[in-house]
Parts: sequence; C-alpha cells; structure tokens
Amino acid sequence: MNSAEIFALSDSYIAATYNRFPLALVKGAGVKVWDADGNEYLDALAGIAVCNLGHCHPRVTAAISEQACRLLHVSNLYHIEPQARLAEILCRLSFADKVFFCNSGAEANEAAIKLARRYGDAVLGEGRTRIITMRDSFHGRTMATLTATGQQKVKTGYQPLLEGFDYVPFNDIAAVAAAITDKTCAVLVEPVQGEGGVILPAADYLERLRQLCDEHKILLILDEVQTGIGRTGKFFAYQHSSIVPDILTSAKALGNGFPIGAMLASDRVLTHFGPGSHASTFGGNPLASAAALATIATLRDEKIVEKVAEKGAFLVAGLRKLQTEFPELISAVRGLGLMIGVDLKTPVGEIVKSCLERRLLVGSAGANTLRLTPPLIIKKTESETLLRILSEVFSDV
Ligand SMILES: *Cc1c(COP(=O)(O)O)cnc(C)c1O
Repeated sequence: MNSAEIFALSDSYIAATYNRFPLALVKGAGVKVWDADGNEYLDALAGIAVCNLGHCHPRVTAAISEQACRLLHVSNLYHIEPQARLAEILCRLSFADKVFFCNSGAEANEAAIKLARRYGDAVLGEGRTRIITMRDSFHGRTMATLTATGQQKVKTGYQPLLEGFDYVPFNDIAAVAAAITDKTCAVLVEPVQGEGGVILPAADYLERLRQLCDEHKILLILDEVQTGIGRTGKFFAYQHSSIVPDILTSAKALGNGFPIGAMLASDRVLTHFGPGSHASTFGGNPLASAAALATIATLRDEKIVEKVAEKGAFLVAGLRKLQTEFPELISAVRGLGLMIGVDLKTPVGEIVKSCLERRLLVGSAGANTLRLTPPLIIKKTESETLLRILSEVFSDV
C-alpha cells in the first residue's frame, strides 16, 4: 500500500483518538525510518523515548526472533526464566529487591498506586491511601493513572474520577509539605516531567522529597516510564541524585519497542503484594522479557548510557546556538541527557510540521515545547544533521 491508501484505511477503521500526522512508516534502522513511499526520515522522537537503541537493533531483533521460535507465552502461573533473569538485572541496576511485570507505563503506575494503597492501609493505618502527585505530570490514560495525572486535558469527560489524589506544583517542596495529611500514603513524581514540557527538577528536589517522605513515613514513588533505561544519562534518572525511591515504574524503552512495563520496589513495600493481590496475563511473558534482556545487555555491552551526557550536551549546545540566532522564536533550551525541550515563542505544531516536511521527526510537549528524544545511539554526524534541519526550519518561519 502507498501512503495515501494507508491514511484512508486508517481513517476509515481506527478510532480517531490520535491527531495523526500524514505519515505512514513501514521500516526503520538505527535513527532512520522510511515511509510507505520510500522517503527516509531522521527520527529524533524514537517512538517517544521508546527505541533507545534505535529501530530494529540487530541484537533485540535476534533475541525476539529466537524467543519467538522457542516459546512466546505461558501464564504467570508458571516460572519463566527470561522474566526471572530480567528481574535480577533490574534489581542489580537499581535500589529494588523485586519486580512486578506488566505491559505498559500506565499499568506499571496502576500497580504502584495499588501497592501504595495496600502499604498505607496495612502499615500507616486504615484508610491512609491518598497519594500526592504534581501539576502538569503525566502518568497514563487508565482511570487511576489519568486521575493521578496533573493535566486537565486527559480527564475531561471521564468523571467520576478515582478518589484519593491531591495535586501540588512540581518543584515546590513547601506545597508537598502542606498537602501531606493523616490520610497520605505516598508521593508520586516524575524525576523529569516529560509530557508536561521536559521540566527539570531543582537540584535538591528529590533529596528534599525523600526527606519529607521519611519524616512522615510515607512512600516515594518515581515514575521513570520516560526517564528510565538510560534516557537521561543514568540507567534510572534518580541515580543523578543521592536518594533511592520506595517504588519505581518503568516501561517505554525497557523493550526497545516491544511492549513491557515493570514496577520495581523494596521488599519492605512489596511484602504487601502477596499471592492473588495483583496480576497480568501478558506481564513479563517470555517474548517481552527476551526483548528487554537483549535491550539491557546491549546498553551495557556497548556502554551506551555512559555516552548519553556528552551527546545530550552536544545537542543542547547546538540548540543554544540556534537560540542566539533565533531569539524571536526560541525562549529556552533545557535537557537532561537525551531528554531535551526547546521552549518556543512560535506555535510548536507548525514547527513539528515543518520538520516533518524536511524529513525530521520531532515531538511536542507541555504548552509550547519542542521535544527531542532521539535514540541514544545517535552519532555526532546525525546530531549535526538534526541541528541543520532545525536551523533551516527556524530560518523559514
Ligand atoms: C508515557 C508515559 C506513561 C504512560 O505509558 P503508557 O505505556 O503509554 O501507558 C506514564 N508515565 C510517563 C512519565 C510517561 O512518559
């Protein structure tokens, strides 16, 4: 099928929940993707921070193919070797003692919310189940996670929402302190707000949140669905700080494009998730676990995370140079590793469209922020191409 045929079929039969660009991608390799008419694009979005190893990384593809020939799926009623090995590696790479597997970021956050409520009820006192989350946060689209999300646009029309969430501004410790009551069991926060506009935490934000949570004996839950798996230059973003969370959620890049989610936690908390308390049919099935195992092994063997800070700094420096050239268009540039936001004074939608016309895929976030989350394997020459195309786009405005 050509692109026009795919657009027509898609528009006829797929629920119109997405504002899709006129683009149908059929093939990918590294930082490049191709549309159904054979045009090549530079992908600086990577499925929104999913394909950290680039598209169709040969090791991930080989692991998926091999596992697909051996065993696709069995129930979590039985032991699954790749799942157990993946859990071990995730624990070794983090603070966690154990892992619960699911299929997406929203599901990982659902698990975290459920576990926090159980913990609160059992340890802190009956009914201590309220969770504090941040304004402009994003935690997913299920009923619980859209309620946890601090953005009105994902909630419209879905009342009644779930009970039990209180919202405070991001980066405001005093507001968190004021919101903690004798009903609070946890604080849920993204170490860097992604969908909210690539908002970085203040230098000591996580430390002070940790301290507050400890003082009140409540849990600190980090949503690392977007920031995890090397995106910010550490395997998990909290590792830029000196703290550890009680619960951490992961998904997006964990399987480099194969759907898998995980909730990591300490034993102290996870003992409240006993047999029968939570489950998922597909969570951590052999195929998903094989994809994630290959993803993490490749990150480690090729020392990819270690190079993210330098690659991010190169892009941010290039973007700051563009800011000095186009001060009437760009108001701020910021990033942590390869999670980068460019605040615009011109509508971001127009810029994203112009980039697409010049065969560059980028995203938007927050009110008016251009979002760059390229594959972590991006080479210097590819970053230069990215900056050149952006420069051309800004010149055209
Ligand atoms: C994408 C995202 C989610 C939701 O993940 P899904 O896999 O789409 O359910 C949750 N939290 C954060 C921080 C995200 O970026």
